[in-house]
Amino acid sequence: MAGEFDLIARYFDWPAQSSSVALGIGDDAALTNLSLNHSLVVSVDTLVSGVHYPVDSNIEDVAYKALAVNISDIAAMGAESKWFTLALTLPEYDEAWLQSFSKGLKAAAAEYGVDLIGGDTTRGPQTLSIQIMGEVASGKALKRSTAKAGDVLFTTSTLGDGAAGLAVHFNSDDLLVQSPVKTDKAQSEAREYCLSQLNRPTARLVESRVIRNYANACIDVSDGLLQDLSHILKASQLGAELNTDEIPLSDQSKLLFGHEKALAYALSGGDDYELLFSVPQALCEKLQAEMTAHGLPCHRIGQLNAQTGIIKDQHGHPLTASGFQHF
Ligand code: ADP
Ligand code: MG
Repeated sequence: MAGEFDLIARYFDWPAQSSSVALGIGDDAALTNLSLNHSLVVSVDTLVSGVHYPVDSNIEDVAYKALAVNISDIAAMGAESKWFTLALTLPEYDEAWLQSFSKGLKAAAAEYGVDLIGGDTTRGPQTLSIQIMGEVASGKALKRSTAKAGDVLFTTSTLGDGAAGLAVHFNSDDLLVQSPVKTDKAQSEAREYCLSQLNRPTARLVESRVIRNYANACIDVSDGLLQDLSHILKASQLGAELNTDEIPLSDQSKLLFGHEKALAYALSGGDDYELLFSVPQALCEKLQAEMTAHGLPCHRIGQLNAQTGIIKDQHGHPLTASGFQHF
C-alpha cells in the first residue's frame, strides 16, 4: 500500500505507556518483558465491516470497541491486559477514517493501559483484527472448565443492553413499548444509553481483579447469557439453574422494550461483555462484600449442578441457548 509507513507513523505509532515494552513499532517484531512466574495470555478477534458492525457505524466507536472486547477476553481469564497488535485491511487510504479510527483506538488503549506494539497493514475489504496479549500469575488463570457443582453463578452488571442497542440502531420502533407515562425525554435518554452500551462496552478488568481471587470459572458474555453459560457447562460437564427474576436488566432496556423482551435480549442477545463467573458457596458472602466495598457491580443469578448440559429456570422449565453464531 502506498504510504504504508507514513500511515503507521501518523496514526498508530504513539509512545508506550508501560516500561514492559522493550521494543515497539518499527522493527521486524516487538519485544516485551514478562513478569516473573507469569504466563503469557493471548487472544485475537477479527471484525469484518458489515458483519460485526454496521457499515454506517461511527468508526471511532468501532475502534474503541474492537480493543475493549479483546480486553474483555483477557479480563475473563482473570489476567492483566498489557499489549496488542493491529492487523488492518482497508480498501483505500482514507485520512478521515484513519483519524477517527486512531482516535477511538487510542482512547481505549489509554483507558485500559495497554500498548500498541505492532501490526500489519494491507489493502482489501475493510477488516480489523486485534491481537491482545497479557499476563497472569502461573496457574491462576480463570478457565471455563474448572467450575464445580454447587458453585453460585454471578454476573457483573446488566445484560441485554447490547442487543437492545442494536435494535435501537436499526430503529426497530415496532418493538418499542408505547406508554403515555413515558416522556419523549426518558425514551431518548434510554435509546442513548442502550446505544452507548452497544458502541462503547466496558471491559470488566477492574472487577476481574477481585473476581479472580474467588471464582472457579469465568467467561465474558459476548453471545448471550445462555450460549456463554453453556460453554462453561460443556467445559465443566455441569448443568445450571438460573433465576430469571434475578438476571439484572437495565431500566432503559425495560422502558424501551418491556420486561419480557429485555429478558430475551439478556438470555439470547449479544455484545454485553459482562463477566459470568462461578464461585464456591462458602466464598460468596466475602466476594459480594469485597465487590460492594469497591463499588463494583455483582449479581447472583443462579447455581450450578450435576445435570450435565441442562439449563433450567427457577420453575424447572428448560432454557435453550440460541445466541449469535456465524455458522
Ligand atoms: P514487515 O514487512 O517486517 O512485516 P511491516 O512493514 O508490515 O513490517 O511493518 C513495519 C512495522 O510497523 C512493524 O513493526 C509492524 O509491527 C508495524 N505495523 C504495521 N502495521 C501496523 C498497524 N496497523 N498498527 C501498528 N503497527 C503496525
Ligand atoms: Mg507486515
